[in-house]
Amino acid sequence: MLRTKVLVVGGGPAGSTAARFLAKQGIDTILLERNFSFVKPCGGGVPNVAFAELGIPASAIKKNVKDIKLVSPLNNAVDVRLEGGFIAIVKRGEFDSLLREDAKVSGAQLLEAEFNHLAETGTQITALVNINGKEERIKTDYLIAADGVNSRVRLALGLKLPSAIYTLTTKIKKDSADTCEFWFGKIHASKSYSWIFPEAEGISAGTGSFDPCELKGMLKAFCERRGLNADSAATRMYKVPLWSGELYNKDNILFTGDAAGQVMPLTYEGIYHAMKAGEFAAMAVMAERPSDYKKLWCKRFNSRFLIMRKLCDYFLKDDKSAEKLVSLYRRQEIQALTMKLWLEKSSDGRNLISFANFFRKALT
Ligand SMILES: Cc1cc2nc3c(=O)[nH]c(=O)nc-3n(C[C@H](O)[C@H](O)[C@H](O)COP(=O)(O)OP(=O)(O)OC[C@H]3O[C@@H](n4cnc5c(N)ncnc54)[C@H](O)[C@@H]3O)c2cc1C
Repeated sequence: MLRTKVLVVGGGPAGSTAARFLAKQGIDTILLERNFSFVKPCGGGVPNVAFAELGIPASAIKKNVKDIKLVSPLNNAVDVRLEGGFIAIVKRGEFDSLLREDAKVSGAQLLEAEFNHLAETGTQITALVNINGKEERIKTDYLIAADGVNSRVRLALGLKLPSAIYTLTTKIKKDSADTCEFWFGKIHASKSYSWIFPEAEGISAGTGSFDPCELKGMLKAFCERRGLNADSAATRMYKVPLWSGELYNKDNILFTGDAAGQVMPLTYEGIYHAMKAGEFAAMAVMAERPSDYKKLWCKRFNSRFLIMRKLCDYFLKDDKSAEKLVSLYRRQEIQALTMKLWLEKSSDGRNLISFANFFRKALT
């Protein structure tokens, strides 16, 4: 039996960040990752400010994106120049390894092992894990669940998985792009959008739908509309959780990142929020007050997630609404406000109120 103060399950952005912050404070921490070679299908777009804010080496950045393009169902396009920041593109496999390595260098014990179940919960937790094909027990005071959208920890507690939208992505090595593109239209994206993201080498193209069966045809339709030849490229399906804000902790078990559904509605931005959740969960554990985690997270993010969920429900419901969204983005004031909230991660409440008021006025 292994013994630790904090067991972190999942070595993605949420888990590695939590483990690094805990270990830095000298707290006995085990970080479990079931597969060190796992590469999450992901655009890898992170606001540049995240690197200084969270102490991540800027060497992880493979590309700087300064332009985004929105294309409406009727082919009206808006180009937005990102002022005051940029979208940093990271290579997910490499980025996740770097974050785990930082946690290890800070003092966390890093294990390639799979969490299976819980034998005991409450103030003393016993986790059953698989290490090299052998079942081991880990006794811990706190457990941080950072095991993604299909969280086994949630299931072990009898909790439902978060609701999610399905995505299908493909990588096209022979193409290149310097712009993140968001394409709207129900023939290739149902209640979602399709996208092109620059990669370190090539581009990734993807689309989303609540019905996984229609994704293949939709990705094909998107590639045709965008003029991409992706016929021979391999595709990967993965879920993006839909935020509902209902789960933070069950006693001494804290849920972070995709395991808690903490992906920004409409933009599907999850990496930054997963890392911040890891930081907040670590702070609550250090204070020995797990309920602080919800307070920290809600104070920083709840209002903006609520507003973005409303906008997502409104603008992605049909082509007419998506057309309106793209046309609103012609206005300089909304471009500037969005950049402040998205790229600078401004926690100034006035920007958020101006952003919400803009849409309230535009839609009434
Ligand atoms: C197609 C797509 C594109 C995206 N693009 C972007 C983007 O450009 N920018 C952005 O910010 N967000 C993006 N996201 C969202 C982003 O990928 C996630 O929100 C983010 O990875 C969440 O981090 P996490 O640490 O919570 O979970 P994950 O990154 O999913 O990490 C969970 C980790 O837990 C491990 N694990 C799972 N089960 C167990 C177990 N039983 N035992 C041990 N380990 C386990 C997994 O192997 C994994 O390493 C995208 C998502 C998708 C699907």
